Amino acid sequence: MPWRIVFDIQPSVGAMHSGDPIVAGQTSGYFYQAVTIGQLEQSNWGVFHEIGHNMQMHSTWTFSNNGEVTCNLFSLKKSSIYNYIPGPLNDGWYGTGGQTPGAASFLALDSSAKDWSVLTNLGQFYPRMAIYAQIFEKYGYGFMTYLATAARNARFTSIDNQSKIDFFYERLSEYTQTDMYRFMREWGLKVSQTSRNAVAAKGYRKLMTNVWMYNPITNTGGDQPLAPRVQFGNGAPGTSLGWTVSSITNVRGGTNGTYNASYDAKNLLDGDINTIWHSCFNGCYSGISSTGTAPNNGSTSAALYPFNAVVKTGNAPVKADGFYIVQRQNGNSNHMDAITIAISADGNSWNTLGTFPLKTAANSSSTEALTKQFIDLPAPVTFQYFRFTWNVPRVRPTATETRHLPKWALFIINI
Ligand SMILES: [Zn+2]
Repeated sequence: MPWRIVFDIQPSVGAMHSGDPIVAGQTSGYFYQAVTIGQLEQSNWGVFHEIGHNMQMHSTWTFSNNGEVTCNLFSLKKSSIYNYIPGPLNDGWYGTGGQTPGAASFLALDSSAKDWSVLTNLGQFYPRMAIYAQIFEKYGYGFMTYLATAARNARFTSIDNQSKIDFFYERLSEYTQTDMYRFMREWGLKVSQTSRNAVAAKGYRKLMTNVWMYNPITNTGGDQPLAPRVQFGNGAPGTSLGWTVSSITNVRGGTNGTYNASYDAKNLLDGDINTIWHSCFNGCYSGISSTGTAPNNGSTSAALYPFNAVVKTGNAPVKADGFYIVQRQNGNSNHMDAITIAISADGNSWNTLGTFPLKTAANSSSTEALTKQFIDLPAPVTFQYFRFTWNVPRVRPTATETRHLPKWALFIINI
């Protein structure tokens, strides 16, 4: 052990503090726990805690509210090796010893109520240790080494707290070969869209079980399959919930601009993945459709990109934590690469949620491109209007060819 410990009759900061040397109060208790093998193995917390402080990696991945948390990783590993449960982890999990409400209570909350940084939700330091205990116990203590090695070899320090969370999320996903987005979210940690895209590009499978409910004290739980996504109107919100396309760039009609049900925008919300809305290129329809007002703003222009479409979610706001898109099923040359999603309470003032990459036959495979593509949001959102905007695809057969927006709908999970 390269670290020196000085036992001082007048330690300057608390009973023990980190540094080189580590300083501890001059008592027989501190002395014997540091130099007695039995106590080092079975009960010593402070020495490993202070060594842990010396080794914390604040410039790369130690994100906020970890100050008295990630200094304990060595302690967790040691207690695992010697097969006992450290008291602080027990208190942190169950919320005892003043560590209220405890990780178990926090993790059982609705995901929208969780925020790692809000102290009232995850009040003390020890509950936060459980995230590391869960990872180590479920995926192996080698993650500590993997993370530290990656941080030491990082070309750049992290510029802000978000970058540190992202660094942790990406290394965790690499180590587990799993997209750990849901795990992060259930711990109240929001990852950036940029980071999510980086992990998605690696092609890992999504997390399939509720690992965040794993109890590191009893070594049980966390194996339940995640509930399937719940889709508004069972995926047909236009049919069953009265959702409407309230605005769309244009609508293809018959050759003379007559109404053609095959291209009606309402097809986007009917739950049938084989029916489509089609943009206008040889007969823009404007007027009253057989089933109501054509939602094309009266446009007779075969305007090209960007297109946008606005959906009104019936007569009431909805709360959702994701969307899904289905690319057009026949033909692989006209898939969308990405879509920008915005939401609004009134159809006038908009909040852009982001631009989300989509799989196409060109950038992935036909099979992947044609399945429902889910877009998970970092947190649930409430709105009565949502707007999709999409630009020209990279694969564009002809200059005048128009694009066919795929099917879409929203889904909710665990709200
Ligand atoms: Zn400390």
